[in-house]
Amino acid sequence: MSGSGAAGQDPTGDQDPAPGSPGPGQAPVPGQRNGSGTPGLPGTSGRILLPGLVDLHVHLRDPGQTHKEDFTTGTGAALAGGFTTVLDMPNNATPVTTREVLGRKLDLAGARVVCDTGLYFGSLGDNLSEFEAVQDLVWGLKLYLNTTTGGYLLDPDFLVSVLRAWRDAGARTGHRAVAAGARTACAETGGGHPVLLHAEADVLPTVLRAAGETGQPVHVCHVCCRAELEQIIAARAAGIPVTCGVTPHHLFLSAEDADRLGPHGEVRPALRPRADVDYLWENLAAIDVVESDHAPHTPAEKDQGVFGFPGLETTLPLLLWAERQGMLRREDIVAKCHEAPARILGLGDRGESVVELDEVEFELGDRELVSRAAWTPFAGRAGYGRVRRVSVRGRVVFEDGVVLAEPGEGFVLRPAAPVAGARS
Ligand SMILES: [Zn+2]
Repeated sequence: MSGSGAAGQDPTGDQDPAPGSPGPGQAPVPGQRNGSGTPGLPGTSGRILLPGLVDLHVHLRDPGQTHKEDFTTGTGAALAGGFTTVLDMPNNATPVTTREVLGRKLDLAGARVVCDTGLYFGSLGDNLSEFEAVQDLVWGLKLYLNTTTGGYLLDPDFLVSVLRAWRDAGARTGHRAVAAGARTACAETGGGHPVLLHAEADVLPTVLRAAGETGQPVHVCHVCCRAELEQIIAARAAGIPVTCGVTPHHLFLSAEDADRLGPHGEVRPALRPRADVDYLWENLAAIDVVESDHAPHTPAEKDQGVFGFPGLETTLPLLLWAERQGMLRREDIVAKCHEAPARILGLGDRGESVVELDEVEFELGDRELVSRAAWTPFAGRAGYGRVRRVSVRGRVVFEDGVVLAEPGEGFVLRPAAPVAGARS
C-alpha cells in the first residue's frame, strides 16, 4: 500500500499547485516563508504562507447541540485556525444514519457554514439499505467500535457486512471513479469513499482483518499509542488498504496532563503515557494525517468529565511550534494537514486558498477563541504563528481575528459526479 504510507513521507510537500497570489506581485509558495524562500527559519520576523488546511475529523455539533458549537461558530473556528475545509462527523444528537436526517443536516450546513464543509454518514449496522442513496452526498462512513460521545457503538460482528455493503454501494453508484487520478488507497483498491473508524488497540485487529477481507479502504482515526500504530504499519506492509490520523492532543499531551487537567482532560481515546507519545513522534512518517478531532463541550460540561477537546484553533500553532523545535518539517505539516486528507477523501479541486500567519510565538489560550467551547486543554502552552488572514477563492474570509465570510458562504462539498471509465 504505497499510497498510504507514502503520504507522510512525501519529501516535496508541494504536490498540489501553489495556492496563488494573495496580492499584486507576490507569488507565495506553500510551506515557505515569504521573501526568503526558507521554510521554518527560526528567530526571524515575517510571514508564513500556507495553503488552506483540511481537517478530515471534526464534530461541529449542529444540529442538536448548538449550545456548544454550530456550523457557523465551528467553521469560523476552522478559519481562525488556518483550516479552509472541514469534514464533519455523524454522531449528532440524532445520529446521521438515514438519508432523510442527512438531508436536513446538509440543508443546515448550506445555510450556515463559513468555510468549505463536507459530511460523513454513520451506521450502527442496521441501515445498509441507505448506503447507496448517500454516495453522492458524503465523503465517507464513520463507525465507532469503542465508546465515545453519543452512545453510538457498532457491534464488531457487523463490521465485515458493513464494509462490504459500503464498498458495493460505492461500486454500484460509480464512486469507484471519484478517486481516479488521485494517489489514494481508494484508487489502488477499487473501493469508494473510505470508512473512518474509532477503533482502539483492542478492536483494531478485527478492523484490519475486515479491511483486508473486503478490500474496503479504512482510515483509523486518532491513533494514540504504540500498540495501534504498530498494527497499522504491519497491516500496510501486508497490503491492507489502511490510512491513519493522529490528533494534536495525542502528540502534545500525555497521561500526566490528564492527571493535571482532571475532568477537563477526559478524551477518547484517553491520553497516553509519555512512552506512547514518544513512539508516535518517532514514527510520524507512518501517520498519514493530523486531524484535530475538534470535539467542543462547554467548560461546565467538561466539569462533568464528558469526552473531547476543541482543537481547530490550536492545531496549527502547535505544529508550527514543533517545527521550530525540529520535531517535524514545514512540508510534513502541509502533507498531513492539506495534501493527504484531500487525497484520502478524493476531495478534488476546491479552488485556491491561502493562509497568512505572523511569525510570532505566543501563549495558547491567551485570547478569545471563536469556538463556542471557549476553552482549550493547551492553555499556557507555546504556539507559533498567528493567523492573520485567510483567503478562499480570491476572497478574504478571515482577518485579524474576525470572520468576514457570511454564514452560507462556505461550500458544502459533495463528491463529484462519477465519470464513466475515468479510473485508470
Ligand atoms: Zn471524533
